[in-house]
Amino acid sequence: MIKLMKSKPVVIIGAGIGGLTTGTLLAKKGVSVEIFEKSKQIGGRTAAVTYRNHILDNGFHIMPFYKKSAIYEVMKEANIESRLKLAIVSDIAFYDGSGFHKYPKGITDILQMSLIPFKSRLSLLKILLPMAFTSIDKTEELDKIPLTEVTKKLDDHSKRFFDAVCMLAFADTPDHISLGEFARTIIRANPFKGGTSEFAYPDMGGYDRISHVMADYIREAKSDIHLGKSIKKISISDGKVNGVILNDESFMETDCVIVSYPAYHAINQLFDDGIFDNEFIQKINRLDKTTSVVEVHFALSKQIDSRQVVFPVGKDYASKGIFFISNITPSVSPSGEHLLIVGTPVKPEETDNPLRIKEIVTQMKQELSEIYPEFNSSLLWERAMAWKLVEAIVKEPGLVWKNKMPHSVENIDGLFFVGDSTISYGIGTDSAAHSSILAHPKIMKHLAK
Ligand SMILES: Cc1cc2nc3c(=O)[nH]c(=O)nc-3n(C[C@H](O)[C@H](O)[C@H](O)COP(=O)(O)OP(=O)(O)OC[C@H]3O[C@@H](n4cnc5c(N)ncnc54)[C@H](O)[C@@H]3O)c2cc1C
Repeated sequence: MIKLMKSKPVVIIGAGIGGLTTGTLLAKKGVSVEIFEKSKQIGGRTAAVTYRNHILDNGFHIMPFYKKSAIYEVMKEANIESRLKLAIVSDIAFYDGSGFHKYPKGITDILQMSLIPFKSRLSLLKILLPMAFTSIDKTEELDKIPLTEVTKKLDDHSKRFFDAVCMLAFADTPDHISLGEFARTIIRANPFKGGTSEFAYPDMGGYDRISHVMADYIREAKSDIHLGKSIKKISISDGKVNGVILNDESFMETDCVIVSYPAYHAINQLFDDGIFDNEFIQKINRLDKTTSVVEVHFALSKQIDSRQVVFPVGKDYASKGIFFISNITPSVSPSGEHLLIVGTPVKPEETDNPLRIKEIVTQMKQELSEIYPEFNSSLLWERAMAWKLVEAIVKEPGLVWKNKMPHSVENIDGLFFVGDSTISYGIGTDSAAHSSILAHPKIMKHLAK
């Protein structure tokens, strides 16, 4: 066991999945942390709200890799995994305009996939099988290659399948995705390599239950989470962190700060000029390529489908994914009411355009009533949300994995970065938790100095 010499607390900026997974791993090692969160809620981008007695996620979240996910690994490390009840999300279907088709749970299911002709299934397998059995190290050689390099030769049927998979796994289109990142996802989904293609969702309310489980553990370990407190500056002298300045101008002494919000914002906000050289800042600013979405919650008086997720494919659907949240976990809705959320990717500027959002909602309602004739008569209310920043993860060729923000920077002792913009694979919450697992040994090494 490493003997820790620190008496000053470790400061974590942000109580999203990145900050809380790092806090959990440190609390488990007996390190006292002080987490500062500028909003009044924990959870960051996963924070939920209660609206008309329904628990509404901040946009739909799904946990890839179920109990093989990085979040679950962190919880297991802290022996708190039994506090999180997880529902498996496995009843997933495609809708192609004329009917529903089962979503393949694993690579072998692709052979039976009715969505596309048999010949197209074989050409898909030709691509996916070698990926599933390659090594994570080998995928690094593919990081600079676009996924479309292999999908461009496919017929339109197989391309539709890739579109839907990329929407589920990356909330993006294949032309934005690095082949290396895609291959790592396929490896992690391969049960013969210790992976799983299953998805999960908390079976106890909204997605931010995950954050609450970790926050409880951190508080039980006598660490603190300060809500509504923002950090304004990180004070650095002689190449070492020596404290943080809060928004109320108070100063807190510390020699270890972990930044857990998108690094391309943090490095431009939290430091005096000259701390980072321009070349480094430019390199990190290149990561500012967010995906944006419009997601609409619909509450219904009737269950219009018993499935958990439906992906409309093939036509120009605005409804790219229909997530029946109360079919996954009924605890999000009051008895007799049903909640679904429908999402579509948009250009970042569209998220500021109320007219465009209204158009999208109208189109979604039209599509839903075509797929489900009972939709209109059972609609109680709808609530649209537009998200400019979904993931701070660049999935694009050349900007993934080790090209992301490093967890520590040369010449500044005691400064660390975690969260989904930092080195990690996977997407979204999985990548934020993975970054904490990767950064943890470095932080512990610093604390043991
Ligand atoms: C609509 C939507 C849908 C999504 N769908 C999925 C999905 O299906 N699956 C999935 O895995 N992921 C999904 N994601 C992405 C996922 O939410 C994020 O990747 C993940 O939550 C990022 O966690 P983080 O800790 O890195 O950052 P954040 O969650 O952004 O946390 C950073 C925290 O830092 C705080 N903060 C910022 N500046 C300061 C400051 N100066 N002082 C104090 N606090 C500060 C912020 O308030 C925030 O709470 C989705 C996101 C959105 C918005």
